[in-house]
Amino acid sequence: MRHQVVIIGAGPSGLLLGQLLTRAGIDNVILDRVSREYILGRVRAGVLEEGTVSLLSQAGAGERVMSEGLPHDGFDLAYDGRDHRIDLFELTGGKRVMVYGQTEVTRDLMDARDDGGAKTIHEAEDVQPHDFSGLSPYVTYCKDGVTHRIDCDFIAGCDGFHGASRKAVPGNAIALFEKVYPFGWLGILADVPPVSHELIYANHPRGFALCSMRSATRSRYYIQCPLDQKPEDWSDDRFWDELRRRLPPSHAEALITAPSFEKSIAPLRSFVAEPMRFGRMFLVGDAAHIVPPTGAKGLNLAASDVHYLSEGLRGYYHEGSAAGIDGYSQQALARVWKAVRFSWWMTTMLHRFPDTGAFDQKIQEAELDYLTHSRAASTALAENYVGLPF
Ligand SMILES: Cc1cc2nc3c(=O)[nH]c(=O)nc-3n(C[C@H](O)[C@H](O)[C@H](O)COP(=O)(O)OP(=O)(O)OC[C@H]3O[C@@H](n4cnc5c(N)ncnc54)[C@H](O)[C@@H]3O)c2cc1C
Repeated sequence: MRHQVVIIGAGPSGLLLGQLLTRAGIDNVILDRVSREYILGRVRAGVLEEGTVSLLSQAGAGERVMSEGLPHDGFDLAYDGRDHRIDLFELTGGKRVMVYGQTEVTRDLMDARDDGGAKTIHEAEDVQPHDFSGLSPYVTYCKDGVTHRIDCDFIAGCDGFHGASRKAVPGNAIALFEKVYPFGWLGILADVPPVSHELIYANHPRGFALCSMRSATRSRYYIQCPLDQKPEDWSDDRFWDELRRRLPPSHAEALITAPSFEKSIAPLRSFVAEPMRFGRMFLVGDAAHIVPPTGAKGLNLAASDVHYLSEGLRGYYHEGSAAGIDGYSQQALARVWKAVRFSWWMTTMLHRFPDTGAFDQKIQEAELDYLTHSRAASTALAENYVGLPF
């Protein structure tokens, strides 16, 4: 079997890249180790930058996000019992974000891929990239007990943090940068109207909380929790009580509760692998970098990587220029590190760290006060939150 590009991973990165390449006439196949249903059952990101929405449209998967997504012009920062609105639209001269779940993004991309007739192989075991430092890379995988080989020009490693692509790179060819945070996010989904029509990021002495949503009738709420806790430790009642305690009184009183139908704990980590190109293999999205979800950047960074890489491959195949693929790693990493910085900063400012002393606590309070009372500081926050250009 031969394809121009083999994409490992059918998450948002792999599917978006596949769609953009297919629409540019570049032949590709996607391999994933799990089933389509499993991927569609994963609940993850929900805030899309305008650049991401525009890429979805270019990929032929933008119809539903435009009709069903919730455009947000701002969000609330809550601390010290009060709300402070960050007016994204006004501060950025007309930019906003779109609230639309990652599950739906993935579904739209899968449907668009089906319509275009491009091939995706699910439940491919032991996927391995080979010989990517030479001119003839290939990928092997096992399906139904039979080993297959796909020859290709390029491999795109879109297989997330735990995937095989990054692990196939020799240790002396890659630099890893990592920061692990001493807490996680306990998140729930419930079919209740959101407590507010915009997101609320709350810093409270008991820990961080985030009120978010997937639609006008489905809410996604998170609270900071210790890493040694498990979702089973948290009954719904315990979760709702704790969330109420961390919100300003007006929101706490307005909170509507119901049984949750999803509950999970995500650890928080910042991670970057450099470079993002190894000969004829590229790392894309979570395979190359992870950010804590506080800045809502993970999925959006995956999308900007895909933009740079798809443009590079289009230039290679259609214009005979390698400049785009040669510049991919440097271009992507410049944006990645800015989002890593922003996500780290949001996390540091909004969470309570177990080892925070009195001095650090006062600095955090001063930071929030400055941020919400200085137009310059609020503008910097808004500019990063809506997404830096790419
Ligand atoms: C629990 C959780 C909550 C999150 N919440 C947010 C949020 O609120 N906001 C935000 O912006 N971001 C959030 N993120 C991050 C966001 O979901 C990711 O940045 C995004 O999924 C990255 O897409 P990706 O396609 O690069 O990787 P992934 O979505 O991880 O997709 C990788 C794909 O590769 C496949 N794969 C893995 N290993 C192999 C292998 N060996 N062989 C073949 N296939 C393989 C996987 O099955 C998967 O389908 C969250 C992430 C997690 C895990």
